Amino acid sequence: MRKTSKLIDKSGLKKRIFWRSFILLTLLILGVCTTATISETNHYRQATQTFYVAQARLLSHQIPDQVLWNDQVALLKRLQSTVSSDTAIDYAYLVEDGVPLVSTFPNGFPLGLLKLSTNSDTTMMIKNIADQNNQRYYHIMVNVDTTRAVLHLGIQKSELNRRAWNNIQQILAMSLLAVLIGAALSRQIALVTTSEVEQITAKLDRQHNFLQTVIDGIVDPIRVVRDTKEIILMNRSAMNNLANKKTQGKSCCDNYCGERDDHATCPLKAVKENNGPVRVIQHRHNKDGSTKIFEIEASPLIEKGQITGMIETTRDITDRLQLEASLDEKKSKLIYMSHHDLLTNLPNRLLLRDRLGQALNRSAPTAMVALFFIGMDRFKKINESLGRESGDQVLAQVSKRLKSCFTHGEVMARLSGDEFAVLIEGSRELTTISHIANQILEQFTQPIVLKDDEIYLSASIGISLYPCDGNDTKQLMTNADIALTRAKDEGRNRYQFFEAEMTRHANKFFQLENDLRKALENNELVVYYQPQINLLSRKTTGLEALVRWNHPEVGLISPLDFIPLAEECGLIVPIGEWVLRESCEQIVRWQKQGRDPITVAVNLSPLQFRQDNLVATVEKIIHETGIDPTILELEITESMIMDGIDKATSTMVELTELGLQLAIDDFGTGYSSLSYLRYFPLSKLKIDKCFIERVTSDVDDAALASSVIALAHSLNLKVVAEGIETEAQADFLRAKSCHQGQGFLFSEPLPADELVAHMDTC
Ligand code: C2E
Ligand code: MG
Ligand code: MG
Repeated sequence: MRKTSKLIDKSGLKKRIFWRSFILLTLLILGVCTTATISETNHYRQATQTFYVAQARLLSHQIPDQVLWNDQVALLKRLQSTVSSDTAIDYAYLVEDGVPLVSTFPNGFPLGLLKLSTNSDTTMMIKNIADQNNQRYYHIMVNVDTTRAVLHLGIQKSELNRRAWNNIQQILAMSLLAVLIGAALSRQIALVTTSEVEQITAKLDRQHNFLQTVIDGIVDPIRVVRDTKEIILMNRSAMNNLANKKTQGKSCCDNYCGERDDHATCPLKAVKENNGPVRVIQHRHNKDGSTKIFEIEASPLIEKGQITGMIETTRDITDRLQLEASLDEKKSKLIYMSHHDLLTNLPNRLLLRDRLGQALNRSAPTAMVALFFIGMDRFKKINESLGRESGDQVLAQVSKRLKSCFTHGEVMARLSGDEFAVLIEGSRELTTISHIANQILEQFTQPIVLKDDEIYLSASIGISLYPCDGNDTKQLMTNADIALTRAKDEGRNRYQFFEAEMTRHANKFFQLENDLRKALENNELVVYYQPQINLLSRKTTGLEALVRWNHPEVGLISPLDFIPLAEECGLIVPIGEWVLRESCEQIVRWQKQGRDPITVAVNLSPLQFRQDNLVATVEKIIHETGIDPTILELEITESMIMDGIDKATSTMVELTELGLQLAIDDFGTGYSSLSYLRYFPLSKLKIDKCFIERVTSDVDDAALASSVIALAHSLNLKVVAEGIETEAQADFLRAKSCHQGQGFLFSEPLPADELVAHMDTC
C-alpha cells in the first residue's frame, strides 16, 4: 500500500490551491467592486442630473422679473457668473416665447438651440444634443417662475464622460487592488490549506502505518484486492508469498504461494457471486513438485454500498489437514480397538452388546435371536504349558474355524481369553440352533497344528434365546454365560440351552464365593492327610495335605469344587498359606508327641507360585512352625513351570535352597517336554491318576506309565503313582519299579486324628 503522503504532490497541491483561491477571490472582489462602481456611477448620474436640475431651478429663481425684463445686461452678468461659478455648466440662455432674451454664448445665440426653447408647462426637460462643433451636451430647460421665460442650460457631455472615466479608473484601481489582495489571500489560503493537508496526510500516514503494523502482525497472508484484480493492500506475510516482491500493479492472480490449478475457484468471483463471505480451498503447486493446500476466506470489500473488491486471508492448511487425517485415522483406529479384539479382529464384548441391542430392536415379535457363548475347554492348560504366545496362535486358529461356520453375516465376537460369542438372528427352529451348535463342536474334532505340536481342543457352548430367556442384552448375555458354565460342568464338549433352573444354580455359586471369603475367619477349612505308601513294604513314607471346606450348611466340600473358585477370586493365596502353616504345625505337633518325623507334601496353586513373596512366606512359615525343611515337600504342576520358565526356575531354586523338596504333581496332563525335567531342581514325580486308572486295561496308558517311570529313574527322581485303587494297579507299578503309591487302596485322605489311628493300626 502506498502512503498517502506519497500520493500527494505538495508543491503542485499548493499551486492548485493558490490559483483556485486566487481566481475565486479576485473574481469575487472584482464582482463586488464592479457592482459597487456601476451602482455608484448610476447613482452619480442621477445625482448629477438632479444637481443640474436643482442648479437650473435655483438659477431661474434668482432671475427676478424686473431684472429679466428691465436689465438684460444684469441678467446676462448673472447668467455668466452662474455659468462660470459652476464648471459643469457650459452655457445658459433665457428664451421667452421662443425669442432669445439673453445668452452666455460668446458668439451670439446658436440658432439650432432655439428649436428647443419651447415654453411649456413642463418644469424641466433634459435633452441630449450636439452643437455646431459636434460637441455633445446635456441640455436642461427650466421654466422661470412667474414668467413665460425658459432658462436653458447646457452641460458638456465630455465633462460627464470625464467624470465617468474617473469612475472607470477607480474600478481599474480597485480591480488591481482586488487582484493584489486576492493574490495575498490566496497565497495565505494555499499555505494554510497545504499545511492542513500535510497534517491530514501525516495523520493518514500514521493510521496507515498502524494498520500496516497490525496486519503485518497477522501470521496468515492478508490481501485487499480490487475487482480489477489489483492488490491495494497486503501484509508482510502475503508479500513474502509473492514470487515477485514488487507490489506495484500486482494482480491477485499472479504467482502467489505457488501455481494454483486452472480450475481452482477464484475467491474474487466467488465473493461477487455469493454477495458475501466465501471459503475456498485451493491446491497450489510449488516448483519443487510439492503441493500445498490453502484455505482462503474472502469477504467483500464494500465502498459506498457497492462491492468493489475483496479482503482475503490465506491459510496454509496442509499440515492441519494431514494432522486431522492422522488424528481421524488414529481416532478410527482407537474406536476400532475399543470395539474389537486385536488378536482375532473380531468384535469384542462391547460391540457384541451393541449389536445384540440392535438385533433386539429390529427383531419381529415372532422372530428369535440366539446368543451363543463358546468357551474353549481347558484352554488355560494350553496357555500355561505352551506359553501365552502359542496360546494366542491357537486362539487365532480357533477363531478362523469358528468363522468358517458363519458365513451369513452373523455377528461373531471374542469375549475374553478363551471365550467367543455368536449372534444369530431370524432362526425360529430350535433344531436349526442345535444344528449350528453341533457344527461348532465338529470344528474341533481335528487337532490344531502348531509348529510340531498337535493340540486337541474341545468347546462348550451356552445358548440363550430371545425372547424366552430374556428381553434385554444384559439378561441374554448373563443367561448364555450361565448356560456355558453348565455345559462345562456337565462334562464339556457339548452345548447347553439356558434353563431357568440354572440361574438358581448360578446364584448358589455366587453365594458360595461370598461364604468362602468368610471360611478362613470362621475356621471352616480342614486339612486332610493322605498317606504315600512304599509299594514293596506297604509302609507310609509320607503324607499329602489336602484341604477341605467344612461348610456350616452344605457340609464337607471337595477342593475340586472350591479351589478353582478360590483361584478365580484370589482367595487361594491366603488359603494356601493357611494349609502350609497348618500342615507344618501338625507335623511338628506329631513330632513333639514322640512320633517319627514324616514327610508332608503341600499343594501349591499357580497363583500362589507366581507370588513374588512366595519364598519369603514359605521361609517364614518354616521358621515360625519350626519344621525341619527337609521333610517338607511342595507340589507344583508342569504348567506352573512352563508358564514363564525363567522365573519358575529361579523360584524353584530359591525354594530348594530353603532345604525343602519339590515334587511335580499330576504329571502327564500338561504339555511339558520330558527332557526339560532335567534342568529343574525336582526330587519327585507324581504320575497322574488318569494314567494309573487304565494301566491294567489300556496298553497305551500302560506304556506311557512305564516310560514315565523309566524316565524318572533315569533322571534320579522318586516316582509316586497317584490314584491306586486296585491291587492289580499296585502290582503293575511294582513290576515297573515304581516303589511309591498313593490311593484309596491304601487310604483315603483323612483328618489328622483319624490318620494317626489309621497309621497306628497299620
Ligand atoms: P492332587 O494334588 O492330585 O491330589 C490328589 C487327589 O486325588 C485328591 O483329591 C485325592 O483325594 C484324590 N485321590 C487320592 N487317591 C485317589 C484314588 O485312589 N482314586 C481317586 N479317584 N482319587 C484319589 P482331592 O483331595 O479332592 O483334591 C483334589 C485336588 O485339589 C488336588 O489334586 C489338588 O490339586 C487340589 N488340592 C487339594 N488340596 C489343596 C490345597 O491345599 N492347595 C491347592 N492349591 N490345591 C489343593
Ligand atoms: Mg497333589
Ligand atoms: Mg495329583
